[in-house]
Amino acid sequence: MASSDRYMPQEWALPEVTDVSRAFFTSGELRLQRCRQCEAVQHPPLDVCHTCRSFEFDYVTAEPKGIVDSFTIVHHPFNGLLDERVPFNIAVITLPDHADVRIVGNVIDAEPDDMAIGLAVDAVWVDIPDNGDGVAVKLPQWRRRAGSAQTGRL
Ligand SMILES: [Zn+2]
Repeated sequence: MASSDRYMPQEWALPEVTDVSRAFFTSGELRLQRCRQCEAVQHPPLDVCHTCRSFEFDYVTAEPKGIVDSFTIVHHPFNGLLDERVPFNIAVITLPDHADVRIVGNVIDAEPDDMAIGLAVDAVWVDIPDNGDGVAVKLPQWRRRAGSAQTGRL
């Protein structure tokens, strides 16, 4: 599923697309770095393996499903671009198939009261034709899984 509607303001900064982050930010899949030496899967993408210090990576495609591991609701517009956006959520998502991976994003169809630890979400991609460097970005974001309800609050 793809959309051209951004959750954050159109002028809000986009991730820098580098050699190691290109797969994650342009593929329209949850492509994660997997070390060729030790097979550790890591995110966010970096030049070096956090486990064994190798510089050699392949990519694995994770299922586009996640669980809200943590979140915050931002109410204060700490930047003028956010005056019309607040309140908004920032969520840390875990992937069922990759226990060590955490992905930061937004649950774009959730109101503040909808957010909960344990909420099941599905990845969606927002098409952004140009990130300012002439690179087309498919920005991974999250939507509440159909039928998923809040599972509890801390
Ligand atoms: Zn490694």
